[in-house]
Amino acid sequence: MGDTCFYCEKDERLHDLMKKIEDLTTSVFYLNMDQTHRGRSILALHHHKRELFELTPEELRMFTEDVAKAAKALQEAFQPQKINYAIYGDVVSHLHFHLVPKYENGEEWGEAFVNAPTHKKFMNEAEYGQLIKMIKDQL
Ligand SMILES: [Zn+2]
Repeated sequence: MGDTCFYCEKDERLHDLMKKIEDLTTSVFYLNMDQTHRGRSILALHHHKRELFELTPEELRMFTEDVAKAAKALQEAFQPQKINYAIYGDVVSHLHFHLVPKYENGEEWGEAFVNAPTHKKFMNEAEYGQLIKMIKDQL
């Protein structure tokens, strides 16, 4: 199982890291469990591709529209000063964007966010549910 992709398998490795917000056109929108940055989310392509250049122009257009739609919902829900976008994928290569709202005077303002901070901010189920509702209301 270690060699399989959790974005494809959607198993406990995924559920330990994120909670589904909603299916978008070409991707799944997830709330990140670590909420060091309020509203931090992930947008994962439905099917397994590694690089943006592997997408057809139509897939690329639709995926980009999903990214924009998700980011707009985060903006309206949480009013950050900026949203950071990152594709890493060294270890988990399945194409996914990290969508990270950034707040002036907040963590790592003016710098790249830390992907896996030592001290993570976890919440209880009701709090995650509240954040997910706030995002869904803006989709
Ligand atoms: Zn995959």
